[in-house]
Amino acid sequence: MSQIKLLPEAVAAQIAAGEVVERPASVVKELVENSLDAGAKQIAVTIEEGGKNLMCVQDNGAGIPAAEVELAFRRHATSKLSTAADLEGIASLGFRGEALASIASVSRLTCTTRSRDDAMGVQLRLEGGHRVHRAPSGRPPGTEMRIADLFYNVPARRKFLRTERTERRHINAFLTRYAIAYPEVAFHVRHDDRETLQTPGNGDTREVLLNVYGREVGSGLLEIAAELTARNAIRVQGFVGSTQIHRANRGYITLMINGRWVEDLRITYAIIQAYHTLLPTKRYPIAFVQVEMPPEDLDVNVHPAKTEVRFREADEVFRAVQRAVRATVIAQAPVATPWQPPRRSAPAAPPEQTLRTRLQQLQPARQFTLPRAVKKQPTSPSARPATPDHVPSATEPAPSAVEERQPAQLPPLRVVGQVARMFIVAEGPEGLYLIDQHAAHERVLYERMRSDWATGDVPSQPLLAAQTITLPPDEATRLEAQLPTLSALGIQVEKVKTGAFQVSAIPAPLRNISPQELLADIASSEPERSPVREELEKATILKICKRAAIKGGQVLPLEEMRTLIRDLEETRNPRTCPHGRPTILQISMKELAFQFGRLG
Ligand code: ADP
Ligand code: MG
Repeated sequence: MSQIKLLPEAVAAQIAAGEVVERPASVVKELVENSLDAGAKQIAVTIEEGGKNLMCVQDNGAGIPAAEVELAFRRHATSKLSTAADLEGIASLGFRGEALASIASVSRLTCTTRSRDDAMGVQLRLEGGHRVHRAPSGRPPGTEMRIADLFYNVPARRKFLRTERTERRHINAFLTRYAIAYPEVAFHVRHDDRETLQTPGNGDTREVLLNVYGREVGSGLLEIAAELTARNAIRVQGFVGSTQIHRANRGYITLMINGRWVEDLRITYAIIQAYHTLLPTKRYPIAFVQVEMPPEDLDVNVHPAKTEVRFREADEVFRAVQRAVRATVIAQAPVATPWQPPRRSAPAAPPEQTLRTRLQQLQPARQFTLPRAVKKQPTSPSARPATPDHVPSATEPAPSAVEERQPAQLPPLRVVGQVARMFIVAEGPEGLYLIDQHAAHERVLYERMRSDWATGDVPSQPLLAAQTITLPPDEATRLEAQLPTLSALGIQVEKVKTGAFQVSAIPAPLRNISPQELLADIASSEPERSPVREELEKATILKICKRAAIKGGQVLPLEEMRTLIRDLEETRNPRTCPHGRPTILQISMKELAFQFGRLG
């Protein structure tokens, strides 16, 4: 007797729905993609309880002809594709004709729509995919899809819905991306009666970026100079963060291909690679990269959710993206903050000078020899190291990786000189290096003090002669409150009388600084507040290092610079100061050659 039966249609539909409708955000995605495909210029999204209770998407697009509404909810019913050949060049976001059928099968759905060609609209209600109501409806052209009680008939799925907050985050992650990618469409998003996103729909991407990222980040994003590949086939556009803006995970990198949000490890890696050596280690850029390419060079029919793609020429896309992003970031690098002297500080080149003129001002610059054949950077995907094995999805920021320690990564450097009494110029195997003397020294001091402190054995160095410092009353009170912390850090201070303190020993790494200045500085700033002694001590170490480090504006003898660079090479995190700012900036031979017009 045969055991094999065809599944009832409703069960088959629910199984298939599982692939399209993973969570509320997938419903929002499919509905909004349909609205965009319908040419809508206004899309309003209303969400209740993270989408569990209600999701409603309204648009002013083409609408569905009354005679075809039922059909739209049938599986494999689509207006966007008719022959197999059409699959070769998909220009719309949808094409599988599955979304509406899937969503309807696992929810209570009301569709109200009017085609531009119809005098009257229609309202259709479906429960679990079955029609329960149909009536004419007078509404302006466009479509409204209301999805209530998602997974009401699939308790197993409903149980696995995450918290409202998580779902809201997923929905917003998707909507903000589409709002940026479609600036000519006005998006209006409400969660539980709170407006969370509103874009003007005037075609101005920058304005959307300001809405989405806030003024500070939004206005600092650099527009990618449109780049076409040799075959004029791949166009890379979008916006990327400068080297001053970075994040602890890859979640801020968005890739749109032909107007579709796509998750692709390799291209994401191309974007990260474009920032190679320009960001502190373990930090990632903010990027919104849009690739336009002939649809026939792209297969989007990989998975029902359509977030994965296959490229006919993956390497070419990889290179186009990497080159466009790199060029954009490099083009602004010369005027980036690492080159701009802090306001308070000593004479330096005026900011409007270009990289070239600044490099020319470096006296020993002729010591750099430019290789005839510039070594090719490992940009091709075949030559690159394996992509990191875990890349968090764009909507799920990974736990911060900043705390992880990196092994020393500085190549051996040869000191060439000092510029602007602030930066050490050095040569290394990869080109020219500029080191911020203050930041570098801060890093060195910080790691020494931290490691001594961690062993619990802080070597305190007695001063030849104890030094006395006198302070006004409130500063004296502040210093007094911090004496135990200072003592734990190897700074021996005693109160000798009201307002007067005597310092008799300081930690070895600080031996070159004036103990009086150090104490005056500590006394003048608010003491750290923390109930945890260790936190107090750590914070005080940071403060002390900042104070004790060599300042900008200080001329350094060659020997001292060499020592500093050697010390920096030995630190565990040589590339940033303890506050996370860069210590070192590299200009590769290739970039130098390029800047001097030696590269074709
Ligand atoms: P697909 O988008 O892959 O074609 P869907 O199941 O998402 O499949 O939608 C089925 C059809 O319903 C679409 O091809 C389109 O003709 C119609 N449709 C769905 N949503 C809208 C909308 N918001 N406006 C106009 N037509 C729509
Ligand atoms: Mg669709």
